[in-house]
Amino acid sequence: MKAPKDYNEKRDFSKTKEPKADKKTSKSGKHPIFVIQKHDATNLHYDFRLEIDGTLKSWSVPKGPSTDPNVKRMAIPTEDHPIAYANFEGTIPKDQYGGGTVMIWDKGTFINIKVDSDKKPIDLKKAYEMGTLEFELKGEKLSGGYALIKMKSGNMKGNWLLVKMKDKEADARRNPVNTENKSVVSDRTMNQIAKEDE
Ligand code: MN
Repeated sequence: MKAPKDYNEKRDFSKTKEPKADKKTSKSGKHPIFVIQKHDATNLHYDFRLEIDGTLKSWSVPKGPSTDPNVKRMAIPTEDHPIAYANFEGTIPKDQYGGGTVMIWDKGTFINIKVDSDKKPIDLKKAYEMGTLEFELKGEKLSGGYALIKMKSGNMKGNWLLVKMKDKEADARRNPVNTENKSVVSDRTMNQIAKEDE
């Protein structure tokens, strides 16, 4: 487990209120955490982060997560973030890396459900390295199984796909990215966060 070096190098902590990553990382609790941060930067996107091996593995999902198992959402890997980042909501100064408003759109814990062909559990870190994560979210907006699959060939090679698994939480009619617009920690909209955090 190492501190996310790239993360610190990209940021000037005298200017941004984002947390600094220190060398010591720790498990957050009994179950690993996830957070989805709506980020109005150069392009609006949703940062999907999963606690794996003492850090928040991160993907930028331009269209945000779907609850429809037939919809595949592109997830572009970004630098590891410190666990403390899961509590960050506010505004990053315009001239800084990732400048713009950040909302904690959803947050909770997850369970690794990835198994091998003999139905034996595959360790989370190993599943990540294999590029096939399967997990069950327990959030406020999202719940149930999701998969994140790394593309190993073609013109999407290196990017991942985020897909809802078919289970009782799947719902093709729900569109939480469009209809559920408030922070799960402060109940604020993006505009309210931007105004109050200037
Ligand atoms: Mn972002």
